[in-house]
Amino acid sequence: MLQNKNKLCVHINHNIYFTELFDCLFICKIGGFHINSCELLLLLKKDAANMSSEYLTRITEKETEDTQSPYGSLQYNIQCLARYNRKNFFELKERDCTDLSEEIDIGKLEDFTFRISKYMDEYAPNQRDLKEYTRIISTYLTFIAKEPLHPLGMYVNEDQTIFENDGVYYCPAKSKNILEEMSLCKYCVCRAIS
Ligand code: SF4
Repeated sequence: MLQNKNKLCVHINHNIYFTELFDCLFICKIGGFHINSCELLLLLKKDAANMSSEYLTRITEKETEDTQSPYGSLQYNIQCLARYNRKNFFELKERDCTDLSEEIDIGKLEDFTFRISKYMDEYAPNQRDLKEYTRIISTYLTFIAKEPLHPLGMYVNEDQTIFENDGVYYCPAKSKNILEEMSLCKYCVCRAIS
């Protein structure tokens, strides 16, 4: 099915706001097409390949310059998230489709993409590269890697972190954060702690 979509996609006039994934979400919706996790990965890889190389270089340089901040500090969380995002961005670029054939729920993917867009417009307006970088990684983590949107070990309050037990991820902040309008926690694989 993706082959048909790709034929359609290449005829769409791309501009800075319309990525491979946005194009294909639109086409899937109006054409009633399906998409699986392998096809989604290929779209994300194309979007990742189109990211600004200057931006990616800046991220890498910043990471190597950073010194370790005190555990639990805001700066610690920022560094933790930056390292996690960078690792996952380069992981998805290298990843192949082995074991990826799960059908993706287009409605969920569309809502997830919309939420990220709204979130980034609100908290990081006019940062197009960061918005795109975040969207690619978050979509990968949620729909393909099935890993938390925030890294294990990151503090979500004064003394609690996101953690894993027996292959299940837990987030002490999920039950609170999921109540926020447009929260991405709704789609995060982490389980809440009651
Ligand atoms: S549940 Fe929410 S706060 Fe917790 S890791 Fe997932 S996205 Fe982050």
